[in-house]
Amino acid sequence: MTNIPRAGVIGNPIAHSLSPKLHGYWLNRYGLEGSYTALKVTEDALEKTLRELPSQGFIGANVTIPHKVNVMQFADQITDRATLIGAANTLIFKDDGRIFADNTDGYGFMANLRQGAPDWDPKAGPAAIFGAGGAARAIIVALADAGVPEIIISNRTRPKAEALRDDFGARISVIDWVQADKMLEEANTVINTTSLGMVGAQDFKVPLDKMRKDAVVTDIVYNPLKTPFLIAAEKLGCTTVDGLGMLLHQGVPGFERWFGQRPEVDEATRQAVLS
Ligand code: NAP
Repeated sequence: MTNIPRAGVIGNPIAHSLSPKLHGYWLNRYGLEGSYTALKVTEDALEKTLRELPSQGFIGANVTIPHKVNVMQFADQITDRATLIGAANTLIFKDDGRIFADNTDGYGFMANLRQGAPDWDPKAGPAAIFGAGGAARAIIVALADAGVPEIIISNRTRPKAEALRDDFGARISVIDWVQADKMLEEANTVINTTSLGMVGAQDFKVPLDKMRKDAVVTDIVYNPLKTPFLIAAEKLGCTTVDGLGMLLHQGVPGFERWFGQRPEVDEATRQAVLS
């Protein structure tokens, strides 16, 4: 076995993942020795794979659907943010065999928002969130951490939004999916965390005309890059930020820990991943 550090992304399905392109680009850009591959792993094989990877030269891995929650039970050390979110997307395999788990989705979301909308002020008003899935959880933790004073959530399945309110407390309120457009009246940050608008998924049908012109609007769906949600917001004059940057930024902490170089997320990185 060579000593070239290896990392990868564990998921199922995994062929669609852009992470190998992203990390491969960074390895090449910084002239670093290392490799990053997609690893298709079924739920049954998750623990065995995690135990075996270090002996194959793996120093860490990203984790994606469907393993982000399950992987937590195999971690020996978990960051506060991953504990709060209840899921991990970045693993570090320590020399002594222990597994360190982190969640960088909220970090990636926030870094993307700040890069795409540098004047965005988290404290300026409420945030409105469509959706209450795994990504919404990470984003809520990050928004609360950044000082957003109030977070309004609307989800098709209301109890899931209520569960988030129960977990994250007083700053959060829930509004019914059929009335979701009402949360837009006050919001200075508007976020789509549902899969609506993604290629192959249903359209986003909630009317958006109540959105404030000065709102910063972001969609975490990045295929297509300009979702109908973002196009509607742009037409209203809002500042919009697409979801690709969240994916790119969430990879930064892992890459830095594994390969010892903090990578840049810039236009060249975007183009490399889109090519
Ligand atoms: P998830 O846990 O499965 O949550 C999916 C969310 O979409 C739920 O709120 C779900 O509502 C809602 N939804 C799905 N179909 C719907 C429909 N027909 N009508 C209304 N709501 C619907 O998934 P996730 O991990 O949070 O990911 C959500 C999206 O974000 C995916 O498209 C994913 O690719 C994208 N994502 C992007 C990044 C990035 O880096 N940019 C990171 C993570 C995820 P119910 O609860 O009612 O089912």
